[in-house]
Amino acid sequence: MMEVLKTRHIGFCFGVRRAIDMVMAEAEKEKGRIYTLGPIIHNPQMVEMLKEKGIIPIEDLREVREGTVVFRTHGIKKEEEEYIREKGLNFIDATCPFVKRVRKKAMFLEKNRYKVVIVGDREHPEVKSVLSYLHNNGIVLEKPTPIKAKKVGVVSQTTHGRESFFNIVSRLVEEVEELRVYNTICESTETRQKEAASLASMVDIMLIIGGKNSSNTTKLYETVKRENCKAYHIETEAEIDPEWFKGVNKIGITGGTSTPDHILDSVERFVKKL
Ligand code: SF4
Repeated sequence: MMEVLKTRHIGFCFGVRRAIDMVMAEAEKEKGRIYTLGPIIHNPQMVEMLKEKGIIPIEDLREVREGTVVFRTHGIKKEEEEYIREKGLNFIDATCPFVKRVRKKAMFLEKNRYKVVIVGDREHPEVKSVLSYLHNNGIVLEKPTPIKAKKVGVVSQTTHGRESFFNIVSRLVEEVEELRVYNTICESTETRQKEAASLASMVDIMLIIGGKNSSNTTKLYETVKRENCKAYHIETEAEIDPEWFKGVNKIGITGGTSTPDHILDSVERFVKKL
């Protein structure tokens, strides 16, 4: 019989739970449709469930004539926020306070004449949001890269990997005259990465559960792979191939900050029956 072990911190983080609670409370008021600019969280199954409650992801704000717009956990762009306010649309700001902290620190650095470096994925909505609040003074680094500037201020995408963040910062220390660094990696992300690495060293195989579009889930998968542990990133148990578990005694399970409990429970039940 296989033993199934889970990380202590698993499933929704504070910011995601808060955002889901906010939209659900709004949906109960039944005051018309609720729109989120892009998916409110990076979990396709949860987004589908919310659609059934009238919470619809949209790509373009011009689609909204009535109802309420929700600022998703990763934040929206400055110009989008301005549009919503100018048009007088109802809105709920469900941006995670830790994401707002990144924005605040970046704006502080810009005000104090630092060239602002955001360590993260330039395609991620959080990074795009933070960048939009700077006046062409921000750059995004995904790996150690030389920079031409005397004063550099650094923040990190909340879900960025610790190791990569420290590598980029160490390279900058060698190059610039003045460096100011705010480690804005979210504690939930850091804790989950540490716990995933530690569990990976104790088991034969790890299942990382969460959206394929979820940055923090992908980072968990990469963390576990660095521990040389056999690992699979899945969204639901439908992707599991029982062949993976041949000769396996211990399975480790972890999930991203946007993975709902019901999916985690269902994967756990599934593997326990194998
Ligand atoms: S991972 Fe951290 S920053 Fe991102 S939503 Fe959760 S609590 Fe907020």
